[in-house]
Amino acid sequence: MIHVAAISKKYKSVQALGPTTVEITEGSFTAVLGPSGSGKTTLLRIIAGLETSDSGSVSIGGHTVSDAASRLFVPPERRGLGMVFQDFALWPHMTVFENVAYTLRARRDTANLKARVTEAIETVRLGGKEGRYPGQLSGGEQQRVAFARAVVGKPRVILLDEPLSALDALLREQMRLELKTLVSSLGLTALYVTHDQLEALSMADRVLVMNNGTVLQSGSPEQVYSRPTHPFVASFLGRSNWFADGNRMIRPEHLSWHRPESAHVAVEGTVAAVGYLGDRYEILVRIDGDTIGARTQEWTAYRATPVQRGAAVTLYISEHNINSIITEEEISA
Ligand code: ADP
Ligand code: MG
Repeated sequence: MIHVAAISKKYKSVQALGPTTVEITEGSFTAVLGPSGSGKTTLLRIIAGLETSDSGSVSIGGHTVSDAASRLFVPPERRGLGMVFQDFALWPHMTVFENVAYTLRARRDTANLKARVTEAIETVRLGGKEGRYPGQLSGGEQQRVAFARAVVGKPRVILLDEPLSALDALLREQMRLELKTLVSSLGLTALYVTHDQLEALSMADRVLVMNNGTVLQSGSPEQVYSRPTHPFVASFLGRSNWFADGNRMIRPEHLSWHRPESAHVAVEGTVAAVGYLGDRYEILVRIDGDTIGARTQEWTAYRATPVQRGAAVTLYISEHNINSIITEEEISA
């Protein structure tokens, strides 16, 4: 559906995006996940046509919409995309109805305007609030107006740039599921930019992990979380406990407090700190150096009940839960 071939972008001395190739299949929900400054927005803006690329090409639905070599550039409004931004970008002086209608008016696509706008507003369950102004809506409702405005023109692809980060934590969690349901009920292909690991893992069926303008790994949420192929991916997607060799790691939830039946490794240490997380305790264990290699280091484990600081403990690791991070350079070496 979207084919991004070797695009790159440099701002003065900053390489915002290295040569990047991305393939997005029709009907998929792809999350672009990475820390601030990793090039996510640049990638999205080049696809949207809000930015030109220094090299490479973009095609959407089989049509080339930009090609640096031949200087081809289709403007954003003719790329058949809907966009949702972090700050919603609603017009404060326009009602909900007029905000949503704006997309159609701007393109002079006003046949059946009232019915189409009303339908989009009802899709996001804001029927009855057409006459309100953005300032009279909650954050979640404003988010839904922004979504309605993005889909009123019936795009086949929707691009979302950190659409939930302006909302508070609880609402953000509710909106994850709501947005995902809306996207799939409309049959849209979605590209969703976020720095939030949980958002990416819970919403997407494919995750692209970026750092320093480069896509380091792409795969299903399960793959990138459980089988990272790059140390950065392992560390960025969740807590990771590293062996002294720096190549093997295990996730905290895979550390067991009881000796498993299967082949395992036992690791001994001392409880350094205990934190209450609400649904469990987080236990920081200072590992005795000689049990897993030369270095003393701190590991995180989870537990249903607390333990005393200073207690000597044993953690068990089933061998199949140990991840060996083999980087692509090592594979090709
Ligand atoms: P992200 O969305 O992942 O936070 P961006 O794509 O916005 O990252 O930015 C990637 C890099 O490019 C950053 O170092 C950022 O400072 C730089 N950058 C982005 N836009 C511009 C711009 N218009 N001018 C100069 N530098 C920019
Ligand atoms: Mg950004």
